[in-house]
Amino acid sequence: MTYSTDGFFDNYGGKYVAEVLRRPLDELEVAFKKYMADPEFIEELNIIRRDYIGRETPLYYAPTATKLLGGAQIYIKLEGLANTGAHKINNAIGQCLLAKRMGKQRIIAETGAGQHGLATAAACAKLGLDCTIYMGEIDVKRQQPNVATMEMYGAKVHAVKSGSRTLKDAVNEAMRDWAAHPDTTHYVLGSALGPAPFPDIVREFQSVIGYEVEKQCKERNIDVAAMVACVGGGSNSIGFFAPFIDKKEPRLIGAEAGGIGPGVGENASRMTGNASREGIVQGYKSRFLLDEDGQALPTRSISAGLDYMGIGPQLAALGASGRVEFTSILDKEALEAIQFFAKNEGVLFAMESAHAGAAAMKIAKELPKDKAVIINMSGRGDKDLFITSPVFRKQEWIDFLKAEVERLESDSEIHSSKVMN
Ligand SMILES: *Cc1c(COP(=O)(O)O)cnc(C)c1O
Repeated sequence: MTYSTDGFFDNYGGKYVAEVLRRPLDELEVAFKKYMADPEFIEELNIIRRDYIGRETPLYYAPTATKLLGGAQIYIKLEGLANTGAHKINNAIGQCLLAKRMGKQRIIAETGAGQHGLATAAACAKLGLDCTIYMGEIDVKRQQPNVATMEMYGAKVHAVKSGSRTLKDAVNEAMRDWAAHPDTTHYVLGSALGPAPFPDIVREFQSVIGYEVEKQCKERNIDVAAMVACVGGGSNSIGFFAPFIDKKEPRLIGAEAGGIGPGVGENASRMTGNASREGIVQGYKSRFLLDEDGQALPTRSISAGLDYMGIGPQLAALGASGRVEFTSILDKEALEAIQFFAKNEGVLFAMESAHAGAAAMKIAKELPKDKAVIINMSGRGDKDLFITSPVFRKQEWIDFLKAEVERLESDSEIHSSKVMN
């Protein structure tokens, strides 16, 4: 069942959109199928993957973690070593290259924490495309490092002032823009969700992760018992799982954000949580965190990338069928996993990916020593200094920020950005 059937994965998926969006979605589906079967397109994509993204990414054996946990061998797919620091570039490059072939010079994308916007901005800079990123005004304010980086790549960041001024509203604005400019513009959706054909497109561009793992395990005779990935919208996990979905083994495990606990509003556990309901939101049918009236509930997670009310429809279907197991990881367990892998392996997980790390630490202990557990480290942790430092060394971090503000305010020598233009 890897590809959807008419946009559906069993009971989930679909294309619940206004009439104006049907044509661009249909056109996209036709172009996607055409170019994925075009050897020239695939060759160009593969060269960019190799020379720009830095593929393949290593499959790292973690000897100390393995010894300390005392069970299955721990391997880490170092997807965070991809250019821009996370897996999101795989999808951004794929869709931008596709847009270029379709003759669309203008790219738009939504972003919440800014990681997808950043990857899209980089892909547009690399491919010479015009880039506009929709981002809720509140997110623009709290994610300044990513906004600054997007602008460095030449993107225009459009602060969305409607609704709750966060990701949900950024998606709506991007959809509206696309509906108004379908001939010139492609909308790069950031995860394996949204209306068909996006869940298929995003999975296929991310499946490069899973196919590399399959090859790396074959070459090195690694006997894999379980694969573990974190699940926000579901793009890194579905790409990592893709080659194995139709097989019985290995176990495929998705780690959701458990936040601060099981209460409503305390987590983002769409598959394992108390408030998990079926619904149709932003163009697709899946499992969401909704109240009894079908209204979106607040979500919570220390990791911005997992802090989302919905999950990709294919993962919802695979959860229902039992092929993918889901588990929930608390903020504090993810923080412990970051410290564990940083100290013992010199590998710094992104906050999101640390949820997979924490889940794997539990699972590995229960498995025999001749088996392997593979963790997808979807991103590296450099981007999270502003989140981890206040937890691990709060006072020092406050002092540092205060000193920085004083220094900036007193320093008349700092060049204005206009110097660059
Ligand atoms: C965005 C992000 C995620 C969550 O998104 P998915 O679509 O579920 O993969 C996970 N890890 C990192 C590093 C991210 O930036």
